[in-house]
Amino acid sequence: ANFMRVIVSSTAPGLEQHQGTDLLCLVRALLKKIRRRVLVGDRVLVGAVDWTDRRGMIEDVFERRSEVVDPPVANVDRLVVLFSLDQPQPEPATLTRFLVEAESTGIPFVLAFNKVELVDDQIISYWRDRLKSWGYDPLFLSVDQRSGLSALEEMLEGQTTVVVGPSGVGKSSLINALRCNQNISEEDPIHQLLEQNSKWFGEQRVGTVSKKSGKGKHTTRHVSLLPIVDGGFLADTPGFNQPSLMKVTKKGLAETFPEIRKMLEENESSGCLFNDCVHLGEHGCVVKGDWERYPYYLQLLDEIKIRESFQ
Ligand code: GDP
Ligand code: ZN
Repeated sequence: ANFMRVIVSSTAPGLEQHQGTDLLCLVRALLKKIRRRVLVGDRVLVGAVDWTDRRGMIEDVFERRSEVVDPPVANVDRLVVLFSLDQPQPEPATLTRFLVEAESTGIPFVLAFNKVELVDDQIISYWRDRLKSWGYDPLFLSVDQRSGLSALEEMLEGQTTVVVGPSGVGKSSLINALRCNQNISEEDPIHQLLEQNSKWFGEQRVGTVSKKSGKGKHTTRHVSLLPIVDGGFLADTPGFNQPSLMKVTKKGLAETFPEIRKMLEENESSGCLFNDCVHLGEHGCVVKGDWERYPYYLQLLDEIKIRESFQ
């Protein structure tokens, strides 16, 4: 069984007193049949509510504002793209890949560099200036020393956030530092509800999404949204370790580079001579090649061209 914890948020008459109530919900089989997958973070319509036992049935899924595939979370408001200044050091090509992937989701993101205490101030200024020339204004923090975290917390207030980045940069550490409570506390009414229903639901946890693994064996990928300090939620599972760039098109790639966006804006009146210009120095192209990340742009464009030629 796939069940989810649903928090009531409805101002419909008669429901006011149930605002914020937790319900343990099963997903209607019909929804699965028509391949409407319910994701963590979805806004759902719940029926057959038993207010005493706090159970219900998810009948329908509302349209999503956004959707992250890895980890599967709906209605994400913000990504945190996390790198570290040391152990491991930022690698410009990898950094660019993550930035392109994040830009392509259309979800606003914060770029942050962790482990500042491992380097001296010159290194910090070096990366600040370098990222500024790329069009970004990163945060610098140390999860270990709990420095710079409040600035980040302020930006995440009231939002649903997913942390992404390469391995080893401190994503799990950051998630642990930002979450309010380690686990569902024993005082939380949903805890008792889960205990009572353990016979029905076995070892499953709240907010899970089951996924069929490549091997054809059922494995469960747990994703939960954790409440964060100033309100809002944080996915407990970090995302895109390996940006696939599958959603980025040949034409769309330019849009994911702030440097190119700026050049196009500055030349808005003329623009490139050809509408379908991919900015390879074509005749009449306003995008020049005199910027640091131009070689990465060309590399990624090649990669996407090859992928598109196979599609
Ligand atoms: P993830 O792979 O991105 O989830 O990274 P982890 O959270 O597992 O952290 C990788 C390693 O970096 C662990 O050994 C952490 O203790 C360490 N780490 C995390 N944050 C900091 C920090 O602010 N400073 C230092 N020096 N190490 C950190
Ligand atoms: Zn052009």
